[in-house]
Amino acid sequence: MSIDHHHDHGAQDDHRRQFVAPDSSRRQQPAAGTEARLAELYDAALDDCRVCQERLLALVAQDAHAIADVVNWACVITAETYGDIPDAFLDEGQEDVFPEPFRQLARVYQDHFMAGTDYETMLPRCSAMTEGQRRQAAAAAVALVVGLSDFGVDFPFP
Ligand SMILES: [Zn+2]
Repeated sequence: MSIDHHHDHGAQDDHRRQFVAPDSSRRQQPAAGTEARLAELYDAALDDCRVCQERLLALVAQDAHAIADVVNWACVITAETYGDIPDAFLDEGQEDVFPEPFRQLARVYQDHFMAGTDYETMLPRCSAMTEGQRRQAAAAAVALVVGLSDFGVDFPFP
């Protein structure tokens, strides 16, 4: 599918655009373009552009590293906002908002971030998921980042 537009991440008058996609430097094998792809996915979600979100989610779902990145991003912002990952994010009660693949990864974050091993632990889980599950996890993570961006939390990544 070809598109004739681009979602601009550079709008300085919109604080939400200043959210920075996850730092992939921790990866052993950085995939070129993934950070830019996640930023564009986030911008497409901010712009409520369904076509681009579907296109980018399909690409992101093929990449276990990108899934770990975007879920990690959502979890860091969640923890910044609430001081923790709220139980409601991890319980089964809101399957439509927090589907099982997302919850599984959020629990990994919750259990491992203190030790700084959350990303490394998430990665094999992401690899083991089906593309459909990875897509679900990414969609929930992006929706969460967009939702929390309205709070204006200072995002800790430079
Ligand atoms: Zn678009």
